[in-house]
Amino acid sequence: MTSTNSLLNLSTDQFITFLKENNIKRFNFVYESHKKTVIPSHDSLIEISDFLINESIDFDKHEGLFFEIDSDYDIIHSAAIHRTNRGQAAGGVRFWQYENTKEFILDGIRLAKGMTHKNALAGLWWGGGKGVIANNKSVDIHNHEIRKKIYSNFGRFITSLNGCYVTAEDVGTNVSDMANVFANTRFTTCIPKTFGGSGNPSIPTARGVVSGIEAAIDYPLFGNIKGKTIAVQGIGNVALPLIEMLFEKGALKIIASDIFSDKVDIAKEKFKNNNFECFKDDKNDNAILFQECDILAPCATGGILNSQTIPKIRADIVCGAANNQLADPIADDNLIYNSGILYVPDFLTNRMGIVNCANEQYGYVNNDSMILQHYDKEWEHSIYNRAMQVFTESKEKQKPTGQVALELADRLSKENHPIFGHRGQQIIKSLVDSNWGQM
Ligand code: NAD
Repeated sequence: MTSTNSLLNLSTDQFITFLKENNIKRFNFVYESHKKTVIPSHDSLIEISDFLINESIDFDKHEGLFFEIDSDYDIIHSAAIHRTNRGQAAGGVRFWQYENTKEFILDGIRLAKGMTHKNALAGLWWGGGKGVIANNKSVDIHNHEIRKKIYSNFGRFITSLNGCYVTAEDVGTNVSDMANVFANTRFTTCIPKTFGGSGNPSIPTARGVVSGIEAAIDYPLFGNIKGKTIAVQGIGNVALPLIEMLFEKGALKIIASDIFSDKVDIAKEKFKNNNFECFKDDKNDNAILFQECDILAPCATGGILNSQTIPKIRADIVCGAANNQLADPIADDNLIYNSGILYVPDFLTNRMGIVNCANEQYGYVNNDSMILQHYDKEWEHSIYNRAMQVFTESKEKQKPTGQVALELADRLSKENHPIFGHRGQQIIKSLVDSNWGQM
């Protein structure tokens, strides 16, 4: 167990003070497979590498974790690289405030591992990684000039990593932040359309969720979307096109909720000619989850499938866009499976956000078959086919769908890139050999 005065329990501010006192501007932790251990760039940080290897259930032989103190503000930039067999580590950058150093580091490694699985299951030739910028509450994150400096510095930090991690947009980061990242590194995707990027991924994400729903309906020969009642939590960027697509496919009725009344009003107006019910929900009420329906589509926040909510769900299928829907990925996966609900793992069905932007440097064609194949029933990696494979294996092995999908994703993530092999790891090694952490 970590003691109360350990580095891991320090607030990120206190941790930065510690780093400065020890003349540390950059630091890293790298997994050494032959020694089965994590090597820190500085002896004074050995407590953290010991924690990762001996105590953290989230650490999974992550190839490298890189950190740098911002040159203008007391905030820390980081890149967690989980696995790069399929290609450079790809995943967005989160800008967030953390209780302590431990939460900050753990969030990065959890999210990076999630990206390994999402990318592999999507058949993308990308590994998994995540950027996290740990904010400091004294920094005014709404100030345009401050954000510009922070994201420009983040871009330079990413450049220094020589391409083992390729960043993108995530929670807390917006399109103009991505423009500032792009101005300082080539190792980014999800840049604004005006710079040749791929633009808003919400419509492709909604379409991906429809594919997941169709697979879940087809699997037990449950008919099709026609005639189904669907409950949608959240009426945001993904849910609005999702509701539209479901009505186009003949949904009988859609019930939706949001915690903001303006979102409710917009949706009511938009779908006034459809069989549509919509209400304002309280943040912790989640009444929408317990509506009698065929399909529940969580499209708001994570953690909503838990021991409190699952027993009250009255849907046969749960399939939505929200990330990390299971509060406990093992216990709640088992609970939903044992409740007889067919759960479509979120990282399988909401992949189109990263699919839409991951390969944007390869240019664009109208109706791009590289994108469209994710929605079809032919390509082995399509959302529909992967979902079918997961449902079938889940039944045969009597295991929850989340676990089956994770095992499949893990196997796929260990396949080496057909051209570049396990190059990300070589990049990490060359960074360490050139003393990146001491610069
Ligand atoms: P969004 O912020 O546009 O919409 C989310 C909506 O949910 C908001 O209107 C918010 O008010 C509402 N909400 C929050 N808590 C709620 C609650 N308890 N009950 C009811 N409504 C609630 O986000 P989005 O882009 O539509 O994404 C939705 C989810 O899908 C998020 O979890 C996101 O991480 C995930 N996701 C999105 C994409 C994408 O392409 N946008 C891709 C992959 C995953």
